[in-house]
Amino acid sequence: PTYTHQFNTAAYKGAATINTGLFIDGEWVAPVEGGEIEVINPATGAVITKVSAGTKADVDKAVAAAKKAFKTTWGSKAPGALRAKLIGKLADLLEKNVDEFAALESLNIGKVFAHAKHMDLAISITILRYFAGWADKIHGTTIESTDAKVGLVQREPYGVCGQITPWNGPIAMIAMKVAPALATGNVIVLKPSEITPFTALRFADLVVEAGFPPGVVNIVNGFGHTVGQAIAEHPQISKVAFTGSTVTGRKILKAAADSNLKPVSLELGGKSPTIVFDDADLDQAVKWAAAGVFSNMGQMCVAGSRIFVQEGVYDEFLAKISAAAKALGDAAGDPFAEGTQHGPQISKTQVDRVMSYIESGKAEGATVHVGGVRIGDEGYFVQPTVFTDVNKDMKIAREEIFGPVTAVFKFKTEEEVIELANDTVYGLAAYVFSENIRRGLRVANALEAGSVAVNSANLFDPSMPFGGYKQSGIGRELGEQAIESYTQAKSIHINL
Ligand code: NAD
Repeated sequence: PTYTHQFNTAAYKGAATINTGLFIDGEWVAPVEGGEIEVINPATGAVITKVSAGTKADVDKAVAAAKKAFKTTWGSKAPGALRAKLIGKLADLLEKNVDEFAALESLNIGKVFAHAKHMDLAISITILRYFAGWADKIHGTTIESTDAKVGLVQREPYGVCGQITPWNGPIAMIAMKVAPALATGNVIVLKPSEITPFTALRFADLVVEAGFPPGVVNIVNGFGHTVGQAIAEHPQISKVAFTGSTVTGRKILKAAADSNLKPVSLELGGKSPTIVFDDADLDQAVKWAAAGVFSNMGQMCVAGSRIFVQEGVYDEFLAKISAAAKALGDAAGDPFAEGTQHGPQISKTQVDRVMSYIESGKAEGATVHVGGVRIGDEGYFVQPTVFTDVNKDMKIAREEIFGPVTAVFKFKTEEEVIELANDTVYGLAAYVFSENIRRGLRVANALEAGSVAVNSANLFDPSMPFGGYKQSGIGRELGEQAIESYTQAKSIHINL
């Protein structure tokens, strides 16, 4: 079965067709036990269509297909040059269909079309190209020990990799996981978020068109507690890569430990600090700090949701970021309409969650400086919100809200702010604004975070590793570290 959506919007006019089945062994199939999931348009709350929901039985089929492909057409049977060529083709096809993918992403998650196209799709294409470049450059080392012995260290793929992705950046998360796994010769069983399956399903068509052998990439849509759980505990899946919440990450780690002890990489939540010193270029700091927490309606693992501002510039910064938040709220609306800068939250569950955090902030004595309310009565829109008078022990200062809500704090000294910034169980990202590069680097060194941006909020570069300190995760994606994480070292000792 297929679903065609006709877009007739200011941003995109054209049709997009997705297959709503499961993609297993190079073919579209119905689930063994035949479940369905409704996909909702978050800008209106209306059902768009239904897609198939798999179960454990479908994961078993996908794993069998992947194993066969690993032995016969991929893994050691596919030279690096071939892997590079096919991943490169995937990038070209994504680029060729970029408007259609951006439109599907916007429709499904409510992301502003231009942001989906110029940020999410652009980075996805770049990631695929970066790892296509690695595919024929993976090599081991020779250890020359004595004239009686030589040692070889080879890097080998794991085999079947399970990949589980969230809803906040569906296609970019898929690119981040699929590209390094394929470049290193692994085969894949991927489960997208059940809320946002559209671009994952359309991506499967590109896998066929690029010429990947059947079974190399399998996409099994379905719920976390069924398909996700089955992937995490599958005895023949050799590695799991997960992006999502810390709560789910713990469950996956337990399932992996209780089954076959497969290695697990976890990209989890955050409560990232933004630090603005007196000597910052204030307009730049405001621009980046606002983008750093309000982009994608705050639904970013790297959201700079605690903003610490040095006392000399506090009032000016607060006025400016509040104006930016208000302007963004004024430009909320249909993600496809001209001039829209702010879309809806992904779901009713999320909007309720965000509003309950806003209520808890108020109840604990914080002040809503701007925002704090829903916008309109259709869809799931929330006004970008800035809190002041926030105490570091309040819930809104400690927990990940995953919405367009930030708290602005005042600080005096560098030592004080480093301690405040690190006072969290998370450690995904951090942002530092200062025109003094020595201070910028000194503070970056002192922060407990996997990625630190100095004078920007831009953290995604395919050639640099990405991942969390503390409870923000285990392992790294992107960069050379991703190649290491999708391969295991084999030492061969040769007696001469
Ligand atoms: P989630 O944990 O609810 O779901 C993520 C994925 O896990 C989905 O595909 C879901 O179906 C699946 N899942 C749910 N229960 C499962 C289970 N028991 N076993 C296996 N799989 C299961 O997260 P979400 O709400 O989709 O995404 C938001 C969260 O993701 C936030 O906490 C955010 O910080 C985090 N995130 C992290 C990064 C990062 O790179 N660190 C990036 C994006 C999002």
